[in-house]
Amino acid sequence: MAESVASLLRGGPGETVSVLLPIPLARAYDYRVPAGMSVEEGQYVRVPLGARVVSGVVWGSGSGDVAANKIRPIGALLKLPPMKAELRGLIDWVAHYYLASPGAVLRMAMSVPTALEPPKPLKLYIDTGSRPQRVTPQRARVFAVLSDGLPRLAADLSRMASVGPDVVRGLVHAGHLNIVAGTSFSEGSNPDPNHSIPTLSGFQRAAANELCSSVGAERFVVNLLDGVTGSGKTEVYFEAISATLKTGRQVLVLLPEIALSAQWLCRFESRFGVRPTTWHSELSTATRRESWRAVSFARAPLVVGTRSALFLPFAKLGLIVVDEEHDASYKQEDGVFYNARDVAVMRGRLAAIPVILASATPSLESHCNASAGRYRRLSLPTRHGEAKLPDVEAIDMRRQPPVRGRWLSPALDTAMRETVEGGEQVMLFLNRRGYAPLTLCRSCGFRLHCPNCTAWLVEHRLTRKMRCHHCGYVEKLAESCPECGLEGSLVACGPGVERLAEELARVMPKARLKVMTSDTVASIRHAEMLVSDMLANRIDVLIGTQMITKGYHFPRLTLVGVVDADLGLSGGDLRASERSVQLLSQVSGRAGREERAGRVLLQSYMTEHPVIRALVEGDRDGFLAAELAARSAARMPPFVRLAAVIISSRIERLAADVAADLARAAPREGEIEVFGPAPAPIAQLRGRFRFRLLVKASRRHNLQAILRGWLASVSWTRAAIVRVDIDPYSFM
Ligand code: ADP
Ligand code: ZN
Repeated sequence: MAESVASLLRGGPGETVSVLLPIPLARAYDYRVPAGMSVEEGQYVRVPLGARVVSGVVWGSGSGDVAANKIRPIGALLKLPPMKAELRGLIDWVAHYYLASPGAVLRMAMSVPTALEPPKPLKLYIDTGSRPQRVTPQRARVFAVLSDGLPRLAADLSRMASVGPDVVRGLVHAGHLNIVAGTSFSEGSNPDPNHSIPTLSGFQRAAANELCSSVGAERFVVNLLDGVTGSGKTEVYFEAISATLKTGRQVLVLLPEIALSAQWLCRFESRFGVRPTTWHSELSTATRRESWRAVSFARAPLVVGTRSALFLPFAKLGLIVVDEEHDASYKQEDGVFYNARDVAVMRGRLAAIPVILASATPSLESHCNASAGRYRRLSLPTRHGEAKLPDVEAIDMRRQPPVRGRWLSPALDTAMRETVEGGEQVMLFLNRRGYAPLTLCRSCGFRLHCPNCTAWLVEHRLTRKMRCHHCGYVEKLAESCPECGLEGSLVACGPGVERLAEELARVMPKARLKVMTSDTVASIRHAEMLVSDMLANRIDVLIGTQMITKGYHFPRLTLVGVVDADLGLSGGDLRASERSVQLLSQVSGRAGREERAGRVLLQSYMTEHPVIRALVEGDRDGFLAAELAARSAARMPPFVRLAAVIISSRIERLAADVAADLARAAPREGEIEVFGPAPAPIAQLRGRFRFRLLVKASRRHNLQAILRGWLASVSWTRAAIVRVDIDPYSFM
């Protein structure tokens, strides 16, 4: 959708235009352009809505279905670059494809309301160059902070120099610092494409050349950068970033989880000389406001962020990179349900720019698209330099069980000891937070469960709490059984990472252990500290959940132990096998990334399972082919389209009734199948009872139109909520 001048609406005084508001309304509303104003599509405006004044975006010409005397005038134009056609098109597409209201999608693009206001001038401090006769250590620190020439806020200056505000004030008073007015405090220097250029290997060079030529062509193409772990995918797509920056266009890099960005940011900095703009939920409103404006005024050349960064108003976007494209955290499942990987591809199409999807374990969807020629596959088949892919072995737990009361088999035990004694590092992976996944009463068999969800409460021994991992419910550790009242009768069943740490502290008392989960690592800074402890060899064994699997590069890490490789294989989820292969390949990929050889041990009770075999044999493509054949035979995605309809209510009967009404009204066209209703596997979640219907349609059907017609034919009270999940990931 090129931004053709002819299609641009220009509304003069007296004309009506439609304005989309960042509110979940069904449609855009009409407003009149008042005397003396003229507006364009995409402009940010302030309009009256009832008794309020709200900001919105001019979406098109008026729909004309409101009486002229009822139409209210636009209040004001905001001084911002208009939202480009490509982003407006994306918002309309997301709303249409995912059955969301356009206003709810617009809200994701206008997530920082204060960013719409012109910034207040800030008082910034700079060094005048003159020096007092006596330079105290405190004053010296202030001068040192300012020596890079960047103006600073008083608060930042005193924090960075560790001095009180009076020291700064004293220096101003004596004429050694000057106050200047500024609007932005985050503008540093721009990334330098030539700061530090790596020497690429043959495969890397070939892939990088392809990527750079797609940047040069300035048109839409999806590149699937399919390279084994440690092959240098990041290094290769950095070349495409460099080529884009040289053309003066902006780059968006999406990462699945922000913890991963600690090392990513360092690598970016060593390649391009500066830290990029980041975008994620941990940032303060003030920083988000700055970043939003910087992006929209083309002052931020590169943004790295989580999925919500997709909706930023880039002024001249030239490239989108989705790293770890297969990652399930790209799927948003609250508010507007969408898959950021798919939306990124659509944004690339609308903006007519290249997209790079990078992964060592591409999703079945992307793999299929590449095989069909819709995406261009660029392969990196070997690890960089001397590094070899790790040797993967399965430990058959039926033959080599752990001794009673332990979770690690003798084989893993021995390997860990050897590794640590040899001065190398171990990573132990168990995707279970807390101490134990289940607590039950030895006397009456009662299992501690969440009052709001169909889920067990998980013991967290370190914080002495029982937690629900679905709704966040917390209670204190029980001393006696809540059912039969017997004291000391509760027993922990199964291992969580805390329990593993306890076991290791007992059997390897000298090893330095760290646990890394979302409970122990609450912030990015915290993650960075753990990473630097790993790099500085202050940790022997790192134990963690999936948080430790992604992206990290630890040169001394040579052994990865997967405590329960079967964990993701049960449950009957459509993607269970695919996801297990991805997750376990990711975690395996942490081992032996430099000259030291790596080894992976998978503890499993079903070593003959195709997933375990594929991992041991390193036969990813064989696995993908088998999985695709199975999906095709079962008529499952990517061969058909799926949508889930989830009905929930605090009143169980009501949810069941609405689900039954929907099932009765279900479309009965040829190749459309509707399954259910059935209680969702987590039948109660956050106090709401849930039923699910699953809709399967051939790829020829217009699934959205069918769903819209169907949902419109049934009505329900406000006490029930019906949500549609297109291309669902989670079947819980
Ligand atoms: P991947 O993203 O495919 O897992 P990385 O990009 O993280 O791989 O590369 C693995 C390691 O090898 C990193 O430490 C990276 O800096 C290094 N590396 C890869 N390619 C090169 C290169 N051409 N020159 C120097 N170092 C490289
Ligand atoms: Zn709960």
